[in-house]
Amino acid sequence: MPATKRDYYEVLGVPRTAGEQELKSAYRKLALQYHPDRNPDDASAEEKFKEAAEAYGVLSDAQKRAAYDAYGHQGVSGMSGGAGFDPNNMDLGDLLSQVFGFGDVFGQQRGGGRNRPMKGDDMRYDMTLSFEEAAFGKAVEIQVPKLEPCGRCSGKGAEPGSSSITCPACQGRGEQIISQGFLSIRRTCSHCGGAGQIIKNVCRDCRGEGYKHVNKRLKVTVPAGIADGNRLRVTGEGQPGANGGPNGDLYVFFTVKDHPVFERHDNDLHCSVPINIAQAVLGDEIEVPTLEGPHKLQIPEGLQSGTELRVRGKGVAEVNGRGRGDLIVHVIVKTPTKINKEQRKLFEELSLSLPVNNDPHEKGLLDKVKDLFS
Ligand SMILES: [Zn+2]
Ligand SMILES: [Zn+2]
Repeated sequence: MPATKRDYYEVLGVPRTAGEQELKSAYRKLALQYHPDRNPDDASAEEKFKEAAEAYGVLSDAQKRAAYDAYGHQGVSGMSGGAGFDPNNMDLGDLLSQVFGFGDVFGQQRGGGRNRPMKGDDMRYDMTLSFEEAAFGKAVEIQVPKLEPCGRCSGKGAEPGSSSITCPACQGRGEQIISQGFLSIRRTCSHCGGAGQIIKNVCRDCRGEGYKHVNKRLKVTVPAGIADGNRLRVTGEGQPGANGGPNGDLYVFFTVKDHPVFERHDNDLHCSVPINIAQAVLGDEIEVPTLEGPHKLQIPEGLQSGTELRVRGKGVAEVNGRGRGDLIVHVIVKTPTKINKEQRKLFEELSLSLPVNNDPHEKGLLDKVKDLFS
């Protein structure tokens, strides 16, 4: 950097009263002239380019410009370079589009016209599954609205037998070079829409589009174990590619409905099963629900409410893998709320013979509390 910095207005060659537009066009002129892309081996050009960029960076920002006007270079020494404006890291195309708003003239068309092979677009299909369908998988036929190359013209858009001619405006390149002084811009050929070819007689079936809109029937195999939010890729079933490019892919997105009884955590299923107080004390064999029907489950003697019993292999299949999760039964001991006379008598008899705490190894709750205060 030079020891004495030139005045920013002088660098851009504008008066101190210059407005936004005047600054911009002065900078644009210098940027185009000195951009390193255009002066690959000229160090002095790069220096001038940086100088202009710095000057524009400051003067185009109202706050920095005011500080510069009042205090000169010192006023902005700590400020310059910010605000996300760094022309030194932009190539000429980015600089033109970002700073000067040239739009996307360099966008899609960069590096060639539309004649090169392009992959077709990917597509999305949303599918809602019942809980069981997701767990066990299923084969399903779906209809996907998509494009298919027109059979009559083989996707060319021209009537069979009629040839297409090379676009005279772009000589088949699909893009035009527009020169404005020393600046040249590539843009999609407006005459042929970028195809490079002009069709003389348009295909009757597709009106020159080259594609037909069809509802394609597809068989999709939903693997067992699909979960809500999963997606499945069906390779090559998206939109057709262009100019010999491959088809896009179809993505099936799954929504899985809730189940009234089961909750799913990964591959395990959870459910709550009530038992009565006698079953909890004495143990019992009960039936619990699984996705494949009732299953016998042994309740051990003296079971506490909230105990989880595991039924191996009765969960959901590992998607694209082996094995299944488990069913986890949350056993809830229900206290009876309505009892008849006879039951009341039995409970009263029971209450005389049952201690509050029936575990001899554990101190009673009241004893524990007493210990805390002693
Ligand atoms: Zn053209
Ligand atoms: Zn056609």
